[in-house]
Amino acid sequence: MNLQTKIASAASEAAAVLERLGVRQALWSAGNRPVRSPITGEVIAHVQDVDAEAARTAIEAAHAAYLAWRDVPAPRRGELVRLLGEELRRIKTDLGRLVTLEAGKIGSEAEGEVQEMIDICDYAVGLSRQLFGLTLATERPEHRMMETWHPLGVAGVITAFNFPVAVWSWNAALALVCGDAVVWKPSEKTPLTALAVQAAFERAVARFPEAPEGLSAVIVGDREVGEALVEHPKVPLVSATGSCAMGRAVAPRLAARFARALLELGGNNAAIICPSADLDLALRGVAFAAMGTAGQRCTSLRRLFVHESVYGAFAPRLKAAYASVAVGDPRVAGTLVGPLIDLAAFEAMQRALGEARKAGGQVAGGDRVEMAGGATAAYVRPALVEMPSQAEIVRKETFAPILYVMRYSDLAEAIRLNNDVPQGLSSSIFTNDVREAELFTSARGSDCGIANVNIGPSGAEIGGAFGGEKETGGGREAGSDAWKAYMRRATNTVNYGRTLPLAQGVKFEI
Ligand code: NAD
Repeated sequence: MNLQTKIASAASEAAAVLERLGVRQALWSAGNRPVRSPITGEVIAHVQDVDAEAARTAIEAAHAAYLAWRDVPAPRRGELVRLLGEELRRIKTDLGRLVTLEAGKIGSEAEGEVQEMIDICDYAVGLSRQLFGLTLATERPEHRMMETWHPLGVAGVITAFNFPVAVWSWNAALALVCGDAVVWKPSEKTPLTALAVQAAFERAVARFPEAPEGLSAVIVGDREVGEALVEHPKVPLVSATGSCAMGRAVAPRLAARFARALLELGGNNAAIICPSADLDLALRGVAFAAMGTAGQRCTSLRRLFVHESVYGAFAPRLKAAYASVAVGDPRVAGTLVGPLIDLAAFEAMQRALGEARKAGGQVAGGDRVEMAGGATAAYVRPALVEMPSQAEIVRKETFAPILYVMRYSDLAEAIRLNNDVPQGLSSSIFTNDVREAELFTSARGSDCGIANVNIGPSGAEIGGAFGGEKETGGGREAGSDAWKAYMRRATNTVNYGRTLPLAQGVKFEI
């Protein structure tokens, strides 16, 4: 179903939203880099890339800011993040709208992304009073052993286009309460939202005199600007979100200078539908996870294993949902699937569908949806591909709405197939059988960083640690103990006695 066939220009609205968000016009009207809206394909702004020298200057300034910021008590640092959260609450509608205009997300998902920023700010404010270390038993009398956590330095943040603001906040809210400064290299496809977030941050800083100059900076540009962060000796941590190819380029360079890498890379997420599954619930879970955000989430559902006993009942309902889902302008109420980010994404999708056909796949959907006013926009009907087996193309992440559906007969085999891909981000099982659910989440179950029961693989909340295994990079962001990546740990042993007993009974008398 298409709700409309003609789309209105996005450029004038983008200008008005940027103004309301307090982004100075000079930052988005006169630069060298055109920014396109995926809604229409038109250029909506021009931003200025920084050169490598300017990137290094921002990093040096952030390092100087960190030296001052680490002395501000953590709960006070939390107060700055609280103010940032207040700003974000105030601008939620406008920032969400800019996410829609720049990344193509439908309204509720775009505002949901801003809500996630607010949530992580709230979380970080509480965390600012809980950056605790352990006190450990020591074998030596009149000694105390403890661990303390200290600020780390400048946290470099590199982000992908598909979560243009939330990923920064997962990193920045934690890094700031941990006493770090932040330098952010947003995706070159979505710099406007980054400039709007920076403007919000600066308004929070203006209300907080202890915040040093340069505490958080945005450096706009493409991979070369990202490389400046990766190479700089004063950036002890780089949190990089994007494709596995990006992680493969970044990780060895960080390793070469012994910097920390927090990698959040590609996913190839699966769900298993068991015989006992609630099929109504599974249908809704699968539809959102596979078609939501036009299949452009790292956690999007890409592979579905359906038990042979329910395949006949489930597959036709899923096909009907695919055929009827509303594709179109994400600004129009009722749209569920907005555009792909660009035509290159559409072409990559078509290549993947071609390979799937060659491997015996039966493709439904996947065709381009033409819209007047959007000749260079990439609207597409999500594709459902019934595959005879998990062919090579199925084992790759194609960042588009393609769901490969396969039958299975034995749960152990379905779990083996769930795990038989290079990526290890998210996964889920739909079942009402407690044995199957527990097996899936056990050590013999899913090998992913996220393993859900009766929920699709996408749509995480910030309380849990987010990230994945294998080629997804191993990083964890947001909740649980993810904050530890942004601090350095010191083990302190204090002797409060008058003798010097050595550990392990070592004698060294002089
Ligand atoms: P991308 O890899 O093309 O770009 C991501 C970012 O990395 C951009 O800012 C880009 O400029 C930068 N970059 C690229 N090469 C670099 C290099 N050599 N050095 C430094 N920086 C470099 O990814 P994309 O197309 O923007 O996003 C889609 C991908 O991101 C998908 O694979 C998706 O699964 C993944 N992703 C993962 C997560 C996660 O949390 N695991 C979240 C969102 C997106």
